[in-house]
Amino acid sequence: MKVLITGGAGFIGSHLSERLIAEGHSVTVLDDLSTGRTENLAGLSGHNRFRFHEGTILDPALVGTLTDEADMIIHLAAAVGVKLIMEEPSRSILTNVGGTETVLKAALKDLKPVFVASTSEVYGKATKFPFGEDDDLTIGATKNLRWSYACAKTLDEFLALAYVREADLPATVLRFFNTTGPRQTGRYGMVLPNFVQAALEGRPLLVHGTGEQSRCFGHVADAVEAMVRLMATPAARGEVFNVGNDEEVTIRALAEQVVAATGSPSEIRLVPYETVYPAGFEDMARRLPDVSKLERATGFRPRRPLSEIIA
Ligand code: NAD
Repeated sequence: MKVLITGGAGFIGSHLSERLIAEGHSVTVLDDLSTGRTENLAGLSGHNRFRFHEGTILDPALVGTLTDEADMIIHLAAAVGVKLIMEEPSRSILTNVGGTETVLKAALKDLKPVFVASTSEVYGKATKFPFGEDDDLTIGATKNLRWSYACAKTLDEFLALAYVREADLPATVLRFFNTTGPRQTGRYGMVLPNFVQAALEGRPLLVHGTGEQSRCFGHVADAVEAMVRLMATPAARGEVFNVGNDEEVTIRALAEQVVAATGSPSEIRLVPYETVYPAGFEDMARRLPDVSKLERATGFRPRRPLSEIIA
């Protein structure tokens, strides 16, 4: 297959690119290098089945040309990261909604299969755990200052599913939960790389709030495995899937595990949200995926343990 990966120079996209090339596919990456890096794709440079295009998903002509040349589109490009989104909410909305619409419209022309990256943040302040794909999305109820990102991703989902219903577009929505592993940087506020870096440098690990908020961390290799299997599953078209690991850990316990794994002398310091975020910030207390739908469709359930992810 010829696969177009938007955002392929980023963390998840670069791992997916490597996997697809290793399986014999051709890969074209479209990325504006805003958070992605060409170094992430260094292992593929010069490969005869790999092409890199520096450009934006906001360019309909470019997206159209690259989509015409592809058999399948994996749309990962997005303005990502807590810090970036809070500093530039309008960019998050413009890129994440406008760019996704451009990609979906290009795919619509010949009804190409397209996978759209969404996020666990669409579950907003949901209080029923674990989060199932058919649960209500309560994003409108949240005062979370990452609202622009969560809303934009929710609109992306609605847009993709509208094209599924109206035009039979073979689109699949991937709701990623915290995905982490090699190449993810802490630059934009990702908690695990930040903790690991602080521990390795002997700096304090700053845990926001009480540290009792929990998350589930999935290994990027598991996310890639899930994507590769869904790509090969025609019944997945038109569906939404949670992609994540359901091993839950509090942020305080995560910090403790990082300190233990690195043998670091770093202290773990609790810092109030107000000292890190603008007033009004509300964090999600838990984010726990139900991944049984993914397992039923593909026979695969992300399982790599947190200890392996930290290592
Ligand atoms: P990332 O920042 O490493 O990757 C995003 C890529 O998109 C970057 O390479 C960036 O340069 C590129 N990009 C941004 N705007 C662009 C534009 N206008 N045109 C072309 N390229 C552009 O982040 P990631 O963690 O690899 O995320 C990939 C996708 O998965 C994103 O859509 C993100 O919202 C989603 N997601 C990731 C996680 C996670 O935990 N990593 C969780 C939920 C959802």
